[in-house]
Amino acid sequence: MNNYLQNKIITIPYIGEMRKEALENMGIFNAEDLLYYFPRKYLDRSNVKDMNQLIVGEECTVIGQVERVWTTKTKRKTILKVLIKDNFGYLTLSWFAGIYWIKKIFKIGDNVSVSGKVNYYKGLNIIHPDFDLLDAHIGNLSTGIIVPVYALTEDMRKKGLNSRQFRRIFKKIFTEITNNIPDPIPQDIRNKYSLIDLLEGLKFIHFPKDKETLKKARYRFKFQELLMLQSVLAIKRRQIKSEKCFAQCKRAGELTTNLYNKLPFDLTDAQKRVAREIYNDLRSETPMNRLLQGDVGSGKTIVAAISAAIMTENNSQTVIMAPTEILAEQHYNNFKRYFKPWGINCELLIGKQTKKQRETILPKIANGKTPIIVGTHALLQEKVKYSKLGLVIIDEQHRFGVDQRMTLIKKGINPHVLMMTATPIPRTLSISVYGDMDTSIIDEMPKGRKPIVTRVVKEVKLPKVYDFLKNQINLGRQIFIVYPLISESEKMDLQAAEKGFENISKIFSSYKIALLHSKLKKLEKKEVIEKYKSGEVDILVSTTVIEVGVDIPNATVMIIENAERFGLSQLHQLRGRIGRGGEKSYCILVSRKDTEQGNERLRILEGTIDGFKISEADLKLRGPGEFFSAKQHGLVDLKIANLIEDGEILRKARLAAFSIIKNDKNLSNKNNKDFKEFFLKNNKDKLNYATIG
Ligand code: ADP
Ligand code: MG
Repeated sequence: MNNYLQNKIITIPYIGEMRKEALENMGIFNAEDLLYYFPRKYLDRSNVKDMNQLIVGEECTVIGQVERVWTTKTKRKTILKVLIKDNFGYLTLSWFAGIYWIKKIFKIGDNVSVSGKVNYYKGLNIIHPDFDLLDAHIGNLSTGIIVPVYALTEDMRKKGLNSRQFRRIFKKIFTEITNNIPDPIPQDIRNKYSLIDLLEGLKFIHFPKDKETLKKARYRFKFQELLMLQSVLAIKRRQIKSEKCFAQCKRAGELTTNLYNKLPFDLTDAQKRVAREIYNDLRSETPMNRLLQGDVGSGKTIVAAISAAIMTENNSQTVIMAPTEILAEQHYNNFKRYFKPWGINCELLIGKQTKKQRETILPKIANGKTPIIVGTHALLQEKVKYSKLGLVIIDEQHRFGVDQRMTLIKKGINPHVLMMTATPIPRTLSISVYGDMDTSIIDEMPKGRKPIVTRVVKEVKLPKVYDFLKNQINLGRQIFIVYPLISESEKMDLQAAEKGFENISKIFSSYKIALLHSKLKKLEKKEVIEKYKSGEVDILVSTTVIEVGVDIPNATVMIIENAERFGLSQLHQLRGRIGRGGEKSYCILVSRKDTEQGNERLRILEGTIDGFKISEADLKLRGPGEFFSAKQHGLVDLKIANLIEDGEILRKARLAAFSIIKNDKNLSNKNNKDFKEFFLKNNKDKLNYATIG
């Protein structure tokens, strides 16, 4: 049966060589691609204004009929003017550039939609509006009509492609589609979740009859998009869970018990729960693939240590990779402290070690004599080999790329994997990006931590803050002052750490102050941190390099300069560096751009220390980009679905995807044929190392 969707665009009416080129530049090659070029927005009564409602200085969208097109000349410039009208008034549009080709677009009597900021110059006026041509019958939006508006490139416009032409083309396409077109969402899933079929969906998305039909169509395509992404994760997960792990642990024994009994503190209930979840995974036949989320200071390290103890007793190796040397060394020291008493060896592998040091360490790893290895990226080198690697732990996992994580994991044969992160990720995001993993959450802080008092202050209040700092130092406490960037970047009026350091040195001339930033050499950095740790330094002025790893119980105050420049989650992570001792701690957010909205945002941090609440707020305010590097972010680049609004659809699509893959591992069932074809065409690259039969 002929599938219309695969027809090349050149075979579609009204598309000639020129338009073909404009469309191909946008990645549109066949009828299917074209039909998935959804409107960028819709105009209806609720967002289109009558011309007598326009307010100078405000953004607006209006629909009108072209009344007159002319050019005027000032001394230096030619200006294109177009007068449009609706039943209620007139509006002039002006262009200072692109006059030649724009002029050709507007014909007297055409219906156009225009958007832009209204100003007043001999009448209401919009300069360089966003504009589009509409069909003749769409005059002034009689009730019920919803008009799709397509994203247009300049190339498209020059070749006469506008929303009117898109509508004309789509209308024609729908008369030409006579056979069934394959629907990527399997029939049973459509039935179960009450989704309209593909053809109906496409018709409604391009020609919505009313809000109801548009909603149905959008729902279907959001579901489809999320279904495809969740299928990627379901396949990855199926792949991992279909392997037998290298080391199936029998039970936790003496070592784990000893370690546990010797801890200087009781584990929190959350730590116990998570340790139990991991223990169950380690005893299963298939590899663990788990993400452990817990705020800074929630105590993830000891959970990692317990996991390593279980592996050690079951005669296999554990490797822990951390993103910085400071952090790796801190882990190494902790692990040594935990395991030395029981005669268990740990090794450290970091970049700065000498060749000779490495030559003694590497064989011990390779022959399996060392059960626990801690390190940085240095662990990724090819010459690091293991004989019985059973558990891979990656701390601050988001600081590593997918390839780096895979490189480490591939050094074992189906090892258990535990990824740890201190960035609480909103649920919708985490199941979109890490949905192939099980999740454990430490949602409880160790007892005895005094809450951190957080305050947003404006610049004018700084003298008071400085007095407060002096008091704290006189009480024997230490201070962090954090700046967002190292040196003033060109025009941005940003207080940088270097300048801040100078300034602070003047104000606190009788105190010891040090500067820490990422351009310092590793050794210098270490020296500064040591001095601060030992109490020799009162105030540490720093860029965000302190974000991870520094554990200084005596630091009770953190000042964050230009706090408005940080994401909330990042600020939350930063303040987690203080409040680690028994003293009351203070985080002071200095806001130098005094906008109500900005301060509102920062005040969220005054009200809660719940990292998840904060990350949810961050997601709403700043979008998914805050949480991931650009590369990872690609995973959640969605065309129609929206992770902030569509959580409910996401959950359903996830269930559907996992049930498809569960019931039809290789997608060989003929009911899933169209799903499979569409999925492989559009998502194969996202599968990474996983495959489908
Ligand atoms: P993170 O989750 O940020 O990696 P760490 O594992 O570094 O946190 O723990 C932070 C500090 O809290 C460490 O000094 C650790 O020894 C301590 N700690 C961990 N768990 C507990 C607990 N249950 N009770 C008291 N202190 C704890
Ligand atoms: Mg940690």
